[in-house]
Amino acid sequence: MNNFSRRNFLKAVGIGGAASLASFGCAANGTANATRSAHVVVVGGGSGGATAAKYLKRFSPEMDVTLIEPTATYYTCYGSNWVIGGNAEMDDIAQTYDALQERHGVKVVQDSVTEVDPARRSVTTAGGETMTYDRLIMSPGIDFRYDAVPGITAADADRIPHAWKAGEQTRILRRQLEAMPDGGVFVMVAPGNPFRCPPGPYERASMVAHYFQREKPRSKIIILDNKEAFSKQGLFMEGWEQHYGDMIEWVASSRGGQVEEIDAANLRTISDGGFTEFKADVLNYVPPQTAGRIAMQTGLTDGFWCPVNQLTFESTIHPGIYVIGDSSVAGAMPKSGHSANNQAKVAAAAIVRELAGEEPLMPSTANTCYSLVTPDHAISVAAVYAYKDGTISGVEGAGGVSPMGAPASVRRQEAMYTQGWYDGITADIWG
Ligand SMILES: Cc1cc2nc3c(=O)[nH]c(=O)nc-3n(C[C@H](O)[C@H](O)[C@H](O)COP(=O)(O)OP(=O)(O)OC[C@H]3O[C@@H](n4cnc5c(N)ncnc54)[C@H](O)[C@@H]3O)c2cc1C
Repeated sequence: MNNFSRRNFLKAVGIGGAASLASFGCAANGTANATRSAHVVVVGGGSGGATAAKYLKRFSPEMDVTLIEPTATYYTCYGSNWVIGGNAEMDDIAQTYDALQERHGVKVVQDSVTEVDPARRSVTTAGGETMTYDRLIMSPGIDFRYDAVPGITAADADRIPHAWKAGEQTRILRRQLEAMPDGGVFVMVAPGNPFRCPPGPYERASMVAHYFQREKPRSKIIILDNKEAFSKQGLFMEGWEQHYGDMIEWVASSRGGQVEEIDAANLRTISDGGFTEFKADVLNYVPPQTAGRIAMQTGLTDGFWCPVNQLTFESTIHPGIYVIGDSSVAGAMPKSGHSANNQAKVAAAAIVRELAGEEPLMPSTANTCYSLVTPDHAISVAAVYAYKDGTISGVEGAGGVSPMGAPASVRRQEAMYTQGWYDGITADIWG
């Protein structure tokens, strides 16, 4: 990897940030009395929330931790593109809360939070339960701005899936691709920055191309992008040319990629003031995004995302509420599962220390993102972050991206690391 030794990197941060535990764990020593009576509620059992609940209990076993999550099975978005391309099953990306409850002592409530009262420090659920908290961690992920483009609403998502939250949406898109005739056109509309998982649309195009190549080789993939450049662009394009010829066409924002209207009934996109149109057989519209709805509703956002003290992830709007994961504004960290997992540990440690009257630690965080171009060809980007001058910034010289022009053996090795990363991070979050 360029400027980057993988072995040293993994040693420094650990897969899923396990090494961070050692330093954070020290912070919890001697805090038992202070945290014994504390109740921390965590909203959302995805990448951020499940990690936070588990690590609160690890840092402070005597603490009372309640995780509220509506689903009994969480499907990771990571790996969902492999399902969409037919290289994995839904069961392969399914996670449950059994270990959090049985092994780690987290109280898991299967319900949805409908209201947060920051003044009373209470949450109310759809099931009618109200509970108070000493500290609240919010990790509700994202919501969609369907009002950004005329002609499509959230009600169209069953016919025009976003598949940007894994689960039923993943199944719908997979079924549509299976039903599409050979020679059909798959059009994906990718959002502008910032959005969940910057390399996600391009991995999806790769996995669909891999499927088409085997089953529907006359088909075409068009990515209409609301930006001029994208994550790991050179590496993706190199891989596309190598494996798929001209099957994938990427259209930059200024070249007609910025979709201005969608004719939902006819699966048509309109851009360039009406001069450019694309007709899809399968249309995958990924709308622009916002913080999860409950964060918006609680008034934790400034615009579309939640500002936080980037040292602790405590909201700068409502003290006592910590916002982590995709909903938060986290400096240079991208909106990813790996970021959410690291941020959760920072917030959990900050809460334990704060309750004990201690200053927060100066954390070091990381992000790694692997993407499959084919099941045997992966590329990655990794970065290390530090808190500096009030914001989380990338550490110069740490991290890097896969090299261009690498031999197939390197790409294959990275494909193996991709599965290793998935197994490591999911074990760290839900195991
Ligand atoms: C196609 C795709 C591929 C991706 N690949 C990668 C990858 O390879 N690597 C990577 O690091 N990241 C990847 N990501 C990004 C990653 O999935 C997200 O960034 C990550 O899951 C964010 O974690 P979170 O906790 O903020 O949100 P989520 O994981 O979405 O969790 C939010 C949880 O909150 C719950 N919730 C919402 N509202 C409420 C409420 N009112 N009450 C209770 N619970 C609520 C939801 O049910 C959900 O379980 C990918 C994303 C996509 C779409």
